Amino acid sequence: MDGRIALIEAGGTKFIVGVGDTSRRIHARTRIDTTRPEETIPAAIDWLRRQGSDYSAVGIASFGPLDLDPTSSGWGHITRTTKRHWSDADVAGPFGRAFDCPVAIDTDVNGAALAEWLWGAGQDTNASLYLTVGTGIGGGAVVGGRLIHGVGHPEMGHIRMPRHPADGGFAGICPFHGDCLEGLASGPAITARWGASLSELPSGHEGHRIIAWYLAQAAATFQAILEPARIILGGGVMSAPGLLDRVRTEAAAASGGYFAGKAEEIIVAPALGDDAGLLGALALTRIGGNLHRIPASRA
Ligand code: ZN
Repeated sequence: MDGRIALIEAGGTKFIVGVGDTSRRIHARTRIDTTRPEETIPAAIDWLRRQGSDYSAVGIASFGPLDLDPTSSGWGHITRTTKRHWSDADVAGPFGRAFDCPVAIDTDVNGAALAEWLWGAGQDTNASLYLTVGTGIGGGAVVGGRLIHGVGHPEMGHIRMPRHPADGGFAGICPFHGDCLEGLASGPAITARWGASLSELPSGHEGHRIIAWYLAQAAATFQAILEPARIILGGGVMSAPGLLDRVRTEAAAASGGYFAGKAEEIIVAPALGDDAGLLGALALTRIGGNLHRIPASRA
């Protein structure tokens, strides 16, 4: 796959649209507010057309949940979402038809996981896992050069958690499960308990210990299931000073020896910076099996 590639980072509040190439360069980008599919998607297509029309592929890293079953007529659609106007929206189809080229689409976190494996902190490993800890928690894993999918994409943020002994009074904020990982350790879960982000809390505050403990339990769980060479922790919550080191220390304690002496090597920060979203979209187009042609008949 050579030439210019149309890139879309489809988020719940904004679409970042760009033009990239196979050398990993991003040539142009713009930001479009996420309103309704019938406004946002044509605006993205218009902008891409103004940059030229000779695209060899389209890469889309999107908010979810997404239908990623290539045999499904709903492939490339958002499925049931709490985001107004976007349930059942076809995200991949309009781009594939507008530029008459194959489309690769996956979740934003899977895009980031693949980009980190190709070019970032997971480079030169056979297996790496990426977890973003922010407004929500999501994860993606690459094993043997492929993103892991079951019948859908993983929902690693919704694993069930043991309770920290000092955190028993908090119900958790996940609308589906209450106290899953996202319900206990996402940014909004931190604010709901302590009225501030971890970065705003004093370094001696118990919140640092408790959140590090939950992320360490999660890391130990993922390690037991997949044994990835890297567990890459990104997202806004991870910018809290000292959190990554606290997670490593807690993980070494939580894993019964699996992380012993290796926590610094396995649990790491992302290596890709501000362009991570668009690079995720680009990475999706670099793996041949991800690319699909949109049938012209599907309106
Ligand atoms: Zn949940």
